[in-house]
Amino acid sequence: MGKHDDDKLAAYRGKRDTGRSGEPAGDAAASDDEDSGRFVIQKHAASTLHYDLRLEVGGVLKSWAVPKGPSTDPSEKRFAIRTEDHPLEYADFEGVIPEGEYGAGTVLVWDQGRYDNLRAEKQDNPKDMVASLDDGLVEVRLHGEKLAGGYALKRIEGGNEEQAKWLLIKMRDDGADARRNPTSTEPNSVLTGRDLDQIAGD
Ligand code: MN
Repeated sequence: MGKHDDDKLAAYRGKRDTGRSGEPAGDAAASDDEDSGRFVIQKHAASTLHYDLRLEVGGVLKSWAVPKGPSTDPSEKRFAIRTEDHPLEYADFEGVIPEGEYGAGTVLVWDQGRYDNLRAEKQDNPKDMVASLDDGLVEVRLHGEKLAGGYALKRIEGGNEEQAKWLLIKMRDDGADARRNPTSTEPNSVLTGRDLDQIAGD
């Protein structure tokens, strides 16, 4: 891992003591494919329950906190707040961040898989993920266990900084289903099958 990647994780490391929290310190190797990568959605029972959506871009996980979590209904716009880049191996982190540490509470891997950058596939004016983030429009195809198909992230306020406000919206395709409500009906971990209480108790 190079110095550049270390710099990208400065905000992540500045917020937490990974020796105490049990979270990854960040030294995994990056994928060399710029137009696809890993994604994860972690259910996080911190002071307020929320879902953290993370997309692998440039050797780190670009991250958004989504208070209500993702929807499969294209008419639902889910508010999403940009958070600091996380290390790649955070995609497999499930456990309890102890009291007193940043983000204290239980983390559950709610969905995980690969994504494709849909904007890179456009004939007209293709954009890589870095340009898409700069533009404030990210369009990805998720290949998860619970979520599938296109999702758009649209920035509504705040540039590239943390705390910028975005919307997460399901695109109209075969993965869309207004009747499904996977955050309610499929609450458990895709890694271990556990619910939040089981993770907290283990
Ligand atoms: Mn979180």
